[in-house]
Amino acid sequence: MDAVVKKMMPPAQYMDKPVTDRPSEAEVEAAVRTLIRWTGDNPDREGLVDTPRRVMKAYREMFGGYDMCPADELGRTFEEVAGYDDLVLVRDIQFHSHCEHHMVPIIGKAHVAYLPDGKVVGLSKIARVVDIFAHRLQTQEAMTAQIAGVIQDVLNPRGVAVMIEAEHMCMAMRGIRKQGSTTMTSTFTGAFRDNPEEQIRFVTMVRSAHGG
Ligand SMILES: [Zn+2]
Repeated sequence: MDAVVKKMMPPAQYMDKPVTDRPSEAEVEAAVRTLIRWTGDNPDREGLVDTPRRVMKAYREMFGGYDMCPADELGRTFEEVAGYDDLVLVRDIQFHSHCEHHMVPIIGKAHVAYLPDGKVVGLSKIARVVDIFAHRLQTQEAMTAQIAGVIQDVLNPRGVAVMIEAEHMCMAMRGIRKQGSTTMTSTFTGAFRDNPEEQIRFVTMVRSAHGG
């Protein structure tokens, strides 16, 4: 296979690095100790002694999306696709994120489609973009828009469709304590935005029975 590989420059706005100077590991561990005391527990008891360090490391991993550029992931595209220019859908991309209001998990699935305009991108790259945005503090609305925005900007397809369905632990565990309710968001650009039939086709493909 001699696919044409193109490397494009990602738009600057997605290359933003973390906006703050990071505190030291010791500062983060002290903050976790404070939170443990806020729960009413004793950070010096045996089971909790190593917890601040574990939480510090877990945060580095769960919020690793600040150190990655989603536009970079989409920078390599392929043109050798036998003229294929119809809908490409990656559905059921599972993700874990954290709501920016309570810093508790958002657990959900993203469905992402685009209508190529000569260029396609590796399918795993779409899932990677979802993952990078998920590993930041988020609202579901912002995440939906960000995924569509970076694909539209970097790949410049005829249109992008993104649907996210997620459960927000801040609704299940606290506040109104509604478990099992799902929040749906969707956004459309280009031909998806302009043509309701393309939106219906997207939703139908997302909802169609899984193989077998
Ligand atoms: Zn929340």
